[in-house]
Amino acid sequence: MSSIFSKIIAGEIPCYKVAEDDKHIAFLDINPVAPGHTLVVPKREVSYIFDMDDQELAEFNVFAKRVAKALEKAIPCKRIGMTVIGLEVPHAHIHLIPINVEADMAFNKERPEVDKTLMQAIATSVAKEFV
Ligand code: AMP
Repeated sequence: MSSIFSKIIAGEIPCYKVAEDDKHIAFLDINPVAPGHTLVVPKREVSYIFDMDDQELAEFNVFAKRVAKALEKAIPCKRIGMTVIGLEVPHAHIHLIPINVEADMAFNKERPEVDKTLMQAIATSVAKEFV
């Protein structure tokens, strides 16, 4: 069975896409902990990030860096935080989160629903900065 992220990659489920290349995709987390919270996902469905081979993992991280640079430009913040959890969706992914204080990285706080128009506007502004 394919993961929800594979369904997004296949175009079967919509997403707020911010970047893509032949091996990776990045889209906004549907339930963001901070504005601009982005998931970076390899198109090859692998459950656990540390089961990726060295080359694949290196390329994945370099792609995530390009997405982080776009986020830095599009979202006012001090840094882009990066974390891996993977307990909910068994398809490797990196969370990139624009942060100003450490608490902006907290996954266990209440996550208010974000307006769809705002999500699309954020995705569009990040996508414009992606090179
Ligand atoms: P985890 O697997 O623990 O890293 O968490 C999975 C993350 O994926 C959570 O932050 C969810 O909000 C996010 N998520 C789940 N389904 C979707 C989706 N269809 N589109 C975007 N983000 C999603």
